[in-house]
Amino acid sequence: MSLKQVLHIIDGKETASVSGRTFESINPATGQPWASVAYGESEDVNRAVESGWRAFESGTWSRMPATDQAQRMRTVSRLIRERADYLAELETKDTGKPLTAAKGDILGAASVFEYFSQIPDHVLGTTYPSDPGYFTYSRREPYGVVGGIAPWNFPFMLVVWKTAGPLAVGNSVVLKMAEQTPVTTTEFAKICLEAGIPPGVVNVVHGDGETGAALAAHPRVPKITFTGSTEVGRSIIRSSADAIKSVHLELGGKSPNIIFADANLDQAMAGSLFTSFFNSGQICTTGSRLLVAEAIAEEFIEKFHQRAKKIVVGDPMQSNTQLGPLISQVQLQRVQNYVKVGKEAGARVLWEGTPTKIPGHDQGYFFQPTIFTQVHPDMRIAQEEIFGPVLSVMTFKDDEEAIRIANNTIYGLAATVWTTNLSRAFTMADRLDAGIVWTNCPHYLKWNVPLEGHRTSGLGEDLGLESIKTFTKLKVNYINYGGHQMNWG
Ligand code: ADP
Repeated sequence: MSLKQVLHIIDGKETASVSGRTFESINPATGQPWASVAYGESEDVNRAVESGWRAFESGTWSRMPATDQAQRMRTVSRLIRERADYLAELETKDTGKPLTAAKGDILGAASVFEYFSQIPDHVLGTTYPSDPGYFTYSRREPYGVVGGIAPWNFPFMLVVWKTAGPLAVGNSVVLKMAEQTPVTTTEFAKICLEAGIPPGVVNVVHGDGETGAALAAHPRVPKITFTGSTEVGRSIIRSSADAIKSVHLELGGKSPNIIFADANLDQAMAGSLFTSFFNSGQICTTGSRLLVAEAIAEEFIEKFHQRAKKIVVGDPMQSNTQLGPLISQVQLQRVQNYVKVGKEAGARVLWEGTPTKIPGHDQGYFFQPTIFTQVHPDMRIAQEEIFGPVLSVMTFKDDEEAIRIANNTIYGLAATVWTTNLSRAFTMADRLDAGIVWTNCPHYLKWNVPLEGHRTSGLGEDLGLESIKTFTKLKVNYINYGGHQMNWG
């Protein structure tokens, strides 16, 4: 079968690499390559960055009237919706996620773009009380070229997150999405062109960590927005030092999902299954630590185990599949290794996931969920981000112990609390050190609400009106129209 050809998008054109190098994208459900992708090196990154600056300086987008920008952004959103089935199919082949989930991501991404289409008219400045004869105001200005780097777990959603905010305030972007899932990124950039976003505003360079590093260190990219591992986030901060870049980071997590005895336990059960295993646990906000009140622990965990066993792992193209394969052979090995690490540390394996063979998909990277109980909060499986369907279950005696265990990692991305007690709900939200607290609603997100990781989970805000600040720099202007006369020297 011939491979789908995927190129960079530079200056509004599909472009091969200067070197002619390519790499293959593997379909995780079959273990077979299905796309051949241009591999970008620093020369390709340079070209994309220069293309971004040319577009920016020409003003075709950066100085376009805001109402026209908004209209074109709405067109992007409409085209995404119209092509949702096609895009979902590509996304499933690249990620292995079930087709229904992929379609949900695509439609969600369309609504993100729609939300951000309201922003161009709302990039407001401030006026300040001034001395007599002075007028002082501030305004927010685009950086110019923003570099966007993202991982493979939500490729289309993330390419939209990395583009919509920067574009809404007048920037151009250079995107380096994950090497495992490049296909829908090029499709997205083509949709932007079709919607009337001028050539050079949305540039795409495919490649791996080296390509990403070239973009992150590029002296002409003053702002980087990165989603990915905390380790790579650190290296992005280091490589931003010379140019004193502004960096926006959304990094890893080890989110607690806390069940109190007073919770609506049916809801808590369904929500816990979802946050533990949805997208095969490959989400930075996965509730990978289940904390259950001792009083209800035995019964809750037993029911949870029985329900988890019914999760359908299978061909992502089938409508009844709930979990597709993991993203890659590397990830499969990594997850298996964590199962070994958990066992060696003495945690009890309640249900052991093994690499699963799906009929007709012998080479796919399928893996059943795994549940560890009697996990000590200091064990590696309770501390490190696994990014797979491996759950660490712990119990707690009282609220203080729940808080202590929940906050006992280097991360601070998200936390879920299940309770019907209002006072407990607010107190937990006060005390949990996480950028997002979900009370009875894991993974609920609205695009007009900002988010930010605490501690090693991130730096800077995304989404909502706060993203205006994230993707612009401040300028103030003091105007003397009749104030002090200069009298010096
Ligand atoms: P994951 O472990 O989920 O793959 P990573 O943080 O390794 O997450 O990768 C996220 C993105 O960062 C990918 O697009 C990857 O190619 C890119 N990347 C990896 N290493 C670097 C680096 N040193 N500098 C910049 N980008 C990188």
